[in-house]
Amino acid sequence: TVRTRFAPSPTGYLHVGGARTALFSWLYARKHGGQFVLRIEDTDLERSTQESVNAILEGMTWLGLEYDEGPFYQTRRFDRYNEVIDQLLEKGLAYRCDCSKERLDELREEQMKRKVKPRYDGFCRHREIDPSQSHVIRFRNPGSGAVVFDDLVRGRISVANEELDDLIIRRSDGSPTYNLTVVVDDADMNITHVIRGDDHINNTPRQINLLQALELPVPQYGHLPMILGDDGARLSKRHGAVSVMQYLEDGFLPEALLNYLVRLGWSHGDQEIFSLDEMIQLFELEEVNKAPSTFNTDKLLWINQHYIKSDDPKRIARLLAPHLGRLDIDPTQGPDLVAVVEAQRERASTLVELARISAFYYRDFEDFDPKAARKALKPGALEPLALVRAHLMELPDWNREDIHAVIANAVKILETGFGKVAMPMRVAVTGGAPSPDLDLTMEMIGREACLRRIDKAID
Ligand code: GLU
Repeated sequence: TVRTRFAPSPTGYLHVGGARTALFSWLYARKHGGQFVLRIEDTDLERSTQESVNAILEGMTWLGLEYDEGPFYQTRRFDRYNEVIDQLLEKGLAYRCDCSKERLDELREEQMKRKVKPRYDGFCRHREIDPSQSHVIRFRNPGSGAVVFDDLVRGRISVANEELDDLIIRRSDGSPTYNLTVVVDDADMNITHVIRGDDHINNTPRQINLLQALELPVPQYGHLPMILGDDGARLSKRHGAVSVMQYLEDGFLPEALLNYLVRLGWSHGDQEIFSLDEMIQLFELEEVNKAPSTFNTDKLLWINQHYIKSDDPKRIARLLAPHLGRLDIDPTQGPDLVAVVEAQRERASTLVELARISAFYYRDFEDFDPKAARKALKPGALEPLALVRAHLMELPDWNREDIHAVIANAVKILETGFGKVAMPMRVAVTGGAPSPDLDLTMEMIGREACLRRIDKAID
C-alpha cells in the first residue's frame, strides 16, 4: 500500500511551500487509499522549537490535512540511527574521519583553484582512527557507476557517483545528519513515495546510495517545483503572508487555500475550482509541472471569493463572527448574521473584508465614506431625505415592501429620478459601504438606526 509522509523541520511556522508539499503527499495517499505519515525532523536542536511543532500541527489541522500516523520525532530515535551507523561501520560501508577543518579548508581551496567541484577526497577511507578521539563518520559512497532514478515529476535523473561525496552521517558531537536520519526513517516507516520540495533533489542520489548500502527498499521520489513570488524570486516573507495561519487571520477559508495550493504546480484542463473529493480523484503526481509556479494573490482572492459566495451561509456566518468580534461588534446584537452574510457576501473576497463592509448593520459608522458623501450628500441633494424620513416615521410596519413604497412615493412627489432619492438615502444609512437593495438594507438595519443615521446626514 502507498505510504507518503510530510517531514517538516520545526524551525518556523507552516509556510505556503510546506503546506503545498503536505497537501500533495496527503492527496497522493488518499487517492491510492494509502497512509499519510507526519514526521517531525527536529534534529537541529538549536533551531527546532516546540512552538514551531505546534504551529505546524495547527496549520495542518486548519487545512484538514489529517495524518494517519505520527507525529514521529527524530530526536526520539537517536538509538536507532546509531544502530544503523554502527552496522555501516561494521560492514565497512562507513568509516571514521578525523580530518581537521584546516585540512578540509585547504582541500576545498585547492579544488576551487583547479576549478573542480569541491568534495572530500577520501583521505581517511583507509586510515585507522582512534574512536576515542574526536571524529566524524562518513558514508563510503560508491566510487564508480551512477545513481539513476525515475522522479515522478521530473522524469529520469542520473548522477555519476564521482560527483558525490563521502557524506558525513554522524557529526563529531555524535548527532546523526539529515541524509542518514531520513533514509532510516523512510525505510522504518515503510514510505513508498517521497514527495518533497525540489530543494532536496541533490540529496536523493545520496539517500539512494545509503539505502542500497543498507539493502533497504528504495521508495519512489517526486520533487515538487519551487514556488516563486510575483517578482520571480523564491517565495518569502517579503511577498506577504507566507504562514498558513496568517491566511486564517486574513479571512481566507481553508478550502480556498487548499484549492489554491493544489493549483500551484498542478492543473487539470482549465478547471480552477476543485472540491476536496475532486482533488483526491483527479490529482496525478505525474501531471505536476517541472517549472516553478508563481504565487498569485489575486487568484487566491478570486478562489476565496468563490467559496465565500457559494458555501453554506450558516458556516460563513460562524466563521465571520470572530472577524466582527475584532471590530468590537457582537453580531448577536442586531440583524441575523446569516441574513447579513446572504446580503453581503457577493461583495467581499475575504472574511475580513466581509466583516468590514457588514459593520454598518450592527453599529453606526463614525463617518460617511468621503467620496460617496461628496457625491450623494451635497447640500442640494438632501431634500429627499427629510421627506422620506417623515414618511418612514409613520410606517405602521417596518418591512422592505413598505420601505420601498415610501421611497417610490417620494420619487413621485418630488418629480425626480429614483437615484436622486435612493443614492443619498443609501449613503445616509450605510455610510457608503457596498450593500444590497436599499429597502432590504434598511429593513435589516431597523427603523431606529435608519432614522438616526438620516438625521446625521441631514445635519
Ligand atoms: N525536513 C526537511 C525539510 O523540512 C524535509 C526532508 C524530506 O522531505 O526529505 O525541508
